[in-house]
Amino acid sequence: MAVHLKSKPEIEAIGRAGAIIAALFAELKPRVVPGATTVQLNRFADTYVRSHRGAIPAFKGLYGFPGSACISINEEVVHGIPSRRRLKEGDIVSIDVGVKQGGWCADSAFTFPVGEIGAEAAHIMKVTRDALRAAVAAARPGHHVGDIGAAVVGTVRGTGLSIIRDLVGHGVGRAIHEEPQVSNIGRPGFGMPLREGMVLAIEPMLAMGTERIATLEDRWTVITADRALSAHFEHTVAVTTDGPRVLTGGGIWDEPKWRPDAAAGHRCASP
Ligand code: MG
Ligand code: MG
Repeated sequence: MAVHLKSKPEIEAIGRAGAIIAALFAELKPRVVPGATTVQLNRFADTYVRSHRGAIPAFKGLYGFPGSACISINEEVVHGIPSRRRLKEGDIVSIDVGVKQGGWCADSAFTFPVGEIGAEAAHIMKVTRDALRAAVAAARPGHHVGDIGAAVVGTVRGTGLSIIRDLVGHGVGRAIHEEPQVSNIGRPGFGMPLREGMVLAIEPMLAMGTERIATLEDRWTVITADRALSAHFEHTVAVTTDGPRVLTGGGIWDEPKWRPDAAAGHRCASP
């Protein structure tokens, strides 16, 4: 499949869909609390997205997925199906949302803490977020897809965390999933050259333990094989001659409490 390069107006359209997700995450933040069920969060996300003209949750029905958001708790990496499971103090929960509006898609994920979280949870959230920031910075013309993965590898090295390599980012545009695949493992200068007009979903997924994953009997929920914690942050990013342009930023991403450096006091004591 070919890579579709986007014009400036097309990138703007993807950015409008992306802004809905960022605003949704800010609305979700006070709702991600102990006792909330993931189906409640899903219902809020569905209603919120559809309150914007022409916008629909892009994951609903995608390959048969039943929810409007993927909501994955603790050892669940991605593709968690909204359920009556209640969030507990100390959980971390990744909410992954796609929005399609006017024929254009955006895709973003944010891992939220539920109440007070432990040092290990804070550590994996911080490193995953740092990895996303570094990976986004590598998305520029003249680089290659491998530079993005290399940025994730470079951030994670020495943190004691592992990179889930069996799940990857992707191009985004008229469809949620387009070429190229964007691995979270890479070597600088390797892989497809990055060109102006590419729009990529960059989404590091890290684990406290093994990088191996398994799928639950619901045939959707991906968990870490050893059931250790995982975290997931994702932005939709346009490759431009001015550098990477994050199309799903703003809102919660700009809040000082959520900046990667703000969590620096929570470093884990273990290697
Ligand atoms: Mg996503
Ligand atoms: Mg994605």
